[in-house]
Amino acid sequence: MSLAERLVQERQARRAAERALAQKQSELAEAHRQLGHRAQALSEEIVETRAEVATVRDENQRVKSDLSAAHHKIAVAERRLWHSVQTITDGFAFFDAAGTLCLANKAYLSIFDGLVDIAPGVAYPTILQVMTDEGIVDTGGLTAGEWQDMMIDRWRMDIPPPVTIRLWNDQYVRLVDRRNAAGDMVSVGQNITHSVLTEAGLTEARAAAETASRAKSAFLANMSHEIRTPMNGVVGMADLLAETGLDEDQRLYVDTIRKSGDALLTIIGDVLDYSKIEADRLDLHPEPFDLERCIHDVMMLLEPLAREKGLTLLVDYDLFMPSRFVGDPGRVRQVLTNLMGNAVKFTDAGHVLVRVTGAPQAGGPSQITITVEDTGIGIPADQLDRIFGEFNQVQAARSRRFGGTGLGLAISHRLIGLMGGEMWVTSGEGSGSCFGLRITLPRTEDARPPRPMLPNGLRRVLVVDDVPTNLTILERQLTQLGLEVSCCANGPSALEAMDAQDFDLVLTDHHMPGMDGLALTQAIRARGSGVPIVMISSNPGHAGRDPARAHLHALLQKPVPRRDLIAMLEGMDQTPRAVPAPNAASVRTGTRQMRVLAAEDNKTNQLVLQKMLAPMNIVLKIAQNGEEAVAAYDSFHPDLIFMDISMPRMDGKDAARAIRAREATLGRRVPILALTANSPDAGDPELAQAGLDAALSKPLRKEVLMNRIAALCPHDAASPLPDAASRA
Ligand code: ADP
Repeated sequence: MSLAERLVQERQARRAAERALAQKQSELAEAHRQLGHRAQALSEEIVETRAEVATVRDENQRVKSDLSAAHHKIAVAERRLWHSVQTITDGFAFFDAAGTLCLANKAYLSIFDGLVDIAPGVAYPTILQVMTDEGIVDTGGLTAGEWQDMMIDRWRMDIPPPVTIRLWNDQYVRLVDRRNAAGDMVSVGQNITHSVLTEAGLTEARAAAETASRAKSAFLANMSHEIRTPMNGVVGMADLLAETGLDEDQRLYVDTIRKSGDALLTIIGDVLDYSKIEADRLDLHPEPFDLERCIHDVMMLLEPLAREKGLTLLVDYDLFMPSRFVGDPGRVRQVLTNLMGNAVKFTDAGHVLVRVTGAPQAGGPSQITITVEDTGIGIPADQLDRIFGEFNQVQAARSRRFGGTGLGLAISHRLIGLMGGEMWVTSGEGSGSCFGLRITLPRTEDARPPRPMLPNGLRRVLVVDDVPTNLTILERQLTQLGLEVSCCANGPSALEAMDAQDFDLVLTDHHMPGMDGLALTQAIRARGSGVPIVMISSNPGHAGRDPARAHLHALLQKPVPRRDLIAMLEGMDQTPRAVPAPNAASVRTGTRQMRVLAAEDNKTNQLVLQKMLAPMNIVLKIAQNGEEAVAAYDSFHPDLIFMDISMPRMDGKDAARAIRAREATLGRRVPILALTANSPDAGDPELAQAGLDAALSKPLRKEVLMNRIAALCPHDAASPLPDAASRA
């Protein structure tokens, strides 16, 4: 090969090498560029990662410090909790689900007195065993085994009932155990020694108080009886003394004795009843009784005071309502006496109205509603809800004026409650009061009272009364009986009414302003009218000496029991009276004197009876005891017997039994009224069983005695009332 060719070849080779070099250089530059990019990205990534690491490190640091703070807090809380658990005086222990003691405070462990066996890790049954083995617990009547079994059985219950254990040193611990959801048991032991001892002391004190209360009740009952007997002498003699010629001072003294005696008797009765109710010792004695008569009896008692105050006493007993029920008459009377007595006491003018309504249910018991309404001083609204509480008197100053114990309503309320009834009051200051009660009592009559049979000629009745309520009651009662009724508020208008129309009967009130009932009677007769006239008087005795009384067909005591009113109407013969006809209208025709036997051993009380009955037109015989009474029954043939109950030799009940036994063969029955020194409302079912018809409570009141005698006077005897005697 030539040189040239070689040169060409070299040139070509060099050029190729230069091209390849250029190629490699450009590739290298590209690689450099890319490497630069990469390095850039990497360094950016490193910066980012570094920042993240710093953040995580910070976070870590914070968590670490939080954790240590939490640890610290937990440690503090745990320390405090344990400190508290150790400090409390109650025993505290914690058992796991298997019954192993996990922890217990000092108080819990203290009863084991340092026994090393009792420490965390010990099983519950072992604790029980240690307690019996070491005599720590007093197992009472149980053996150690029985006691442990009892405690284990209890421990296994889901909710173990609290149990009180007694320790050797007479300390009492009440164990309360509670299981949580995981089965662990928290056990708390409270030392209740103080309350146990207090309770025992209280039980002892209560037993002692009950014994004392029983003794007190017996003492009070006895005292009441003992006080009533001499009080009969005091009050009775004061009553008699008041009727003798006294100067003003002497009258004042006597009145004070009487009023104080009455007040004392009321207080004795109230205190005795209240103590009985408090000691749950008050029993009811149900027996058949006449409610209407009971109300009228109370009215009779209140009549003198009402008259003194110028009050009108009214009874509105639903005409077709039965009057005989089964209940405790003494207690019913007591409640009525309280309500009606208060009504009279707290009323200075106007009236006191007792209204009896009810719904007799076929064959069943009757629901009876009794309201006692007055027109008195009333009770302020804010006192009403307390009125049935004990010792409650509306305003001390006011009560001081009226007296009283403040127990009456509380006793009445409790009595009505005992009877299964309810009591209420509506009142306003100055606008009168209305006390109401509702009781349900069985009836003794099967049907309503039979419809009265009035004489055919009796149709038109003229009623004269100045008290509108009284007019309304009489008008309603007479209208219900099918009569035509005209009402007049005074005598002159009655005379005018009689000019305009004929009447078959005139029913007039006694005391009326202007022309009273007797003056009206005179005026009617003076006009030549023979119409039957019946006068209703709150004080029939006062009408006695007036010549006009002879013109009366009948003289009724106010308020008139329905039975008396109906009996009077039924018994009316319609022949007009002769004009004028003095004495022709006399109710009684008998001439012999009524015979009254009184059995009473106490000399003072004999004297009281003799003096009280001296003005009456009767023959009175006194028997010193039951035996003498029975003998006198045979020889004296009494029309009425008053029988003291506690007498030597033969008491009143035995005497009554003996008399009733004699009567069984003779076929007659003399009324026997018991004279008792018990509280009027004590109720004694034995009296009725012994054959006594009713009881009068000492101290005896002249008016009551006289009224009873008059009411029980047989038809063939002359009127026993004093005025009748003076006329005869
Ligand atoms: P007291 O023996 O004081 O009359 P009560 O329990 O019977 O006791 O009555 C309590 C009080 O209720 C009376 O003191 C009186 O203030 C008031 N009170 C009772 N009834 C009436 C009434 N009809 N009118 C006004 N106040 C009455």
